Amino acid sequence: MENGRLALIILGPPGAGTGTQARMAAEALNIPHISTGDMLREALRNDTELGRKAKAFMECGALVPDELVEASVAERLVQEDCGRGFILDGYPRTIPQARFLESLLENSDTRFLCVGVSVGNDVLIQRLSSRWTCPACGKIFNAALNPAKAGGRCDECGANLMQRKDDTAEVIAERLHVYHKATEPLILYYQERDSFVEINGDKPVEEVFDSIIGVIKGRTD
Ligand code: AMP
Repeated sequence: MENGRLALIILGPPGAGTGTQARMAAEALNIPHISTGDMLREALRNDTELGRKAKAFMECGALVPDELVEASVAERLVQEDCGRGFILDGYPRTIPQARFLESLLENSDTRFLCVGVSVGNDVLIQRLSSRWTCPACGKIFNAALNPAKAGGRCDECGANLMQRKDDTAEVIAERLHVYHKATEPLILYYQERDSFVEINGDKPVEEVFDSIIGVIKGRTD
């Protein structure tokens, strides 16, 4: 990772594995993983003003208004650990958010790379409905594909695993709809800026990860 700072955007529909991949890539590259979904869930848990404002949108699978998320992202990106680069997961999710991000990073010698993880709708629905998350460390399991070894407990930290409230059939359908309508146009947005690479996300986690690392190496060395 030479030549300035890398803004790596992992883009994909809910269930594509962007959270898992972003966490793995952050560890491998030693740069922070920034998930707006995690930030918002933390705000909900802590019952902050942001959490209270975001709650109703999140519960029904809608996007939280851009301006609510923007403030948190702006605050996070000026922190010291973002100096060499960072991985965004779940942000940007709309064209105005992408423009906001670009304006935030203007004149900062930052290169954008957007990796699109593509997975078909049927696979996404199956994955989301069997997803279990660790509320303590954020590790993600799948009851069918990648079950926790210790039953309902996290392999990493031992906390009891939970299913996300928005992983119900009705909310999943809405989140997929919102993705195709509001977020998918970002593919063209980053293609036009020669910053987009698509990879096949319908493969084992390690294989997807190798593709992502290959793309990053190819684009940044
Ligand atoms: P995620 O964990 O990325 O699937 O996000 C969970 C929920 O948080 C989404 O369904 C949205 O309601 C909200 N959210 C997360 N990131 C954003 C964002 N960039 N813009 C708007 N809403 C967001």
